[in-house]
Amino acid sequence: MERRLDNILQWLDANRKRFEQDLFSLLKLASIGTDPAYDDQVRETGKWIHDFFGSIDFEVKWIETCGHPIIFAQSPPVDNAPTVLVYGHYDVQPPDPLELWDTPPFEPAVRNGNVYARGATDDKGQMLTHLFSCEAWMKEKGSLPINVKFFIEGEEESGSKGMNEMLAGKYDADIGMPVNELLAADVAVISDTSQYGPGQPAITYGLRGIYYWELRLKGPNRDLHSGAFGGSVSNPANALTHMLDALIDGDGRIQVPGFYDGIEELSEKERQLFADLNFDDAAYMKELGVDAIHGEKDFSTLERRWARPTFDINGLWSGYQGEGAKTVLPAEAGAKFSFRLVPGQSLEKVKSGLEQILKENCPPGIQMELIDMHGASGCVVSIDNPFLKSAAEAVKKGFGVRPVFIRSGGSIPVVLAFKELLGIDTMLLGWGLDDDNPHSPNEKFSLDDFFRGTRSSAILWQELASKS
Ligand SMILES: [Zn+2]
Repeated sequence: MERRLDNILQWLDANRKRFEQDLFSLLKLASIGTDPAYDDQVRETGKWIHDFFGSIDFEVKWIETCGHPIIFAQSPPVDNAPTVLVYGHYDVQPPDPLELWDTPPFEPAVRNGNVYARGATDDKGQMLTHLFSCEAWMKEKGSLPINVKFFIEGEEESGSKGMNEMLAGKYDADIGMPVNELLAADVAVISDTSQYGPGQPAITYGLRGIYYWELRLKGPNRDLHSGAFGGSVSNPANALTHMLDALIDGDGRIQVPGFYDGIEELSEKERQLFADLNFDDAAYMKELGVDAIHGEKDFSTLERRWARPTFDINGLWSGYQGEGAKTVLPAEAGAKFSFRLVPGQSLEKVKSGLEQILKENCPPGIQMELIDMHGASGCVVSIDNPFLKSAAEAVKKGFGVRPVFIRSGGSIPVVLAFKELLGIDTMLLGWGLDDDNPHSPNEKFSLDDFFRGTRSSAILWQELASKS
């Protein structure tokens, strides 16, 4: 077994320069998915990936969608071995503002061991690690030790419309089978996140969900003079602050009835793993420019950010906001706000509890409209999951450092879609760094991490095979 892997790793070493050149040629294509002016380059990028899979004898499908094409590819079948679904995206964020780039976004440049270009880390560089690891196995051994499927879209940065239609079964006729059969797998892998810090790789095993709302309040039929009318009718701005304030108490506990029902509490083991990361609250405060951290009582900063639900107002409007004073009693007020959710919480329960508490706190003479903008549950993989253990082993060998297990406070919709449609967990194996600037000027990716990620991926296929 080990010798088999040695050959693969040698092959990777010998091809390192070529991988970088391939990465650079992919980065030269301006696959800005959201801007129709770049449609040709988006398709050319898809074609590059499609042809790559052809060159390593994978079975590959080019799937046209309502938006940009999806590339599906799979390794030659291996019986009695697990199947891994690798997701990635070949579109990139627009590079604006261009003047803040030190070198042009689509002319990859190497500085201090990093490649600078739009898409370097998000997600071309990270995604390619899995393509090259498969190439190594195919060229060196003629096959992979497990089944690997690739599902690569071109609209991740602009809403994934085509992918969502595909997952909803809209293209089943074109692909010749139900989409859940095409994508059927035992576990999914995505490399589109970050390490815990430089030299400290991480496996992200949990994500929070989100529930986003808009609240609109209407009072009198026009803006009123606050001297002539104030005190005799409800003021929508006062009502809004009162209603929003009712949603959370001073200890950071959300007051929506039923909100905490069903939450999967952190185990002692997980709390210990978080504590072992020695998160530096003082440095965090300094970085954010605040003189205190604050959140739900009895939880650490990492627990609050990764594994506890939250309520945050995202926008507020009402009344006069110009220069000087205006004695107005505004006719309307509104807010956008969102909850971050954790595994176990029910969207329906949050919704009905929210409607109830807002109605209870809505003063007389105010009409309220509550708009459900979008919701997605949180998800978490058990830290005792055997696939996760294989991944940890692979990353340890690939990077030479044991990875830490972390969660992320954000949401990745495709992870939830895989859970719901395919019933599988997703392992987020992030090779990037927090300061890679994925959506900003001077996006970068460490070429050493690019190579370590490729090694880890090649080892992962072996680790998963040996467990089956
Ligand atoms: Zn991405």
